[in-house]
Amino acid sequence: MEILQERIRREGRILSDTVLKVDSFLNHQVDTALALEIGREFARIFADKPVTKVLTIEASGIQFAMATGIALGVPFVYAKKKKAVTLADKVYSAPVRSFTRGEEYQVCVAQQYLGPSDKVLIVDDFLATGAALVGLVDIVREAGAELAGVGCVIEKSFQEGRGLLEEKGVRVHSLARIVSMSPGDVRFADNGSS
Ligand code: 5GP
Repeated sequence: MEILQERIRREGRILSDTVLKVDSFLNHQVDTALALEIGREFARIFADKPVTKVLTIEASGIQFAMATGIALGVPFVYAKKKKAVTLADKVYSAPVRSFTRGEEYQVCVAQQYLGPSDKVLIVDDFLATGAALVGLVDIVREAGAELAGVGCVIEKSFQEGRGLLEEKGVRVHSLARIVSMSPGDVRFADNGSS
């Protein structure tokens, strides 16, 4: 997605060999027009699948799952990172090791919002080690739902996430695939996305 790559080049800040900060348009302040465009792009890419629900994880996947849900005309569900007192008794859950915070946490989804009749598209902001997305894939499978695929806004292709998901038989599509990054030099895969 050309406009996304352009924004990453212009506004992305490389914090380390593996961490890209995109707080000006994706992760803290959100460019709403771009988020809606991202949602339409995911809807177009997965148009061959009759998706009934979009699934993401709080907090930074929410705006893209919402935009995708609007484009597809279906609800979105966001997995919660710990079991809140207000959450239903019956939940699907999976352990996840956080890439940015380095700690392990549980992701939970109330069983009433995901079931065997659902066809689920998972959407998230970043694909890095893949831990968060593997957790969501496990939850979809535990629910007995069908997985249409995984859509990521930014993939750091030099990390292991895509490989882990593909090993699990998951179809992955990322809108910007970064093959290498250093200050002032962000490189994308030849076709940018796939
Ligand atoms: P994972 O390692 O599980 O694929 O990444 C989990 C989450 O960490 C992503 O959904 C994203 O919120 C965050 N994350 C991973 N890599 C980066 C990065 O380079 N920059 C930012 N801003 N967040 C990241």
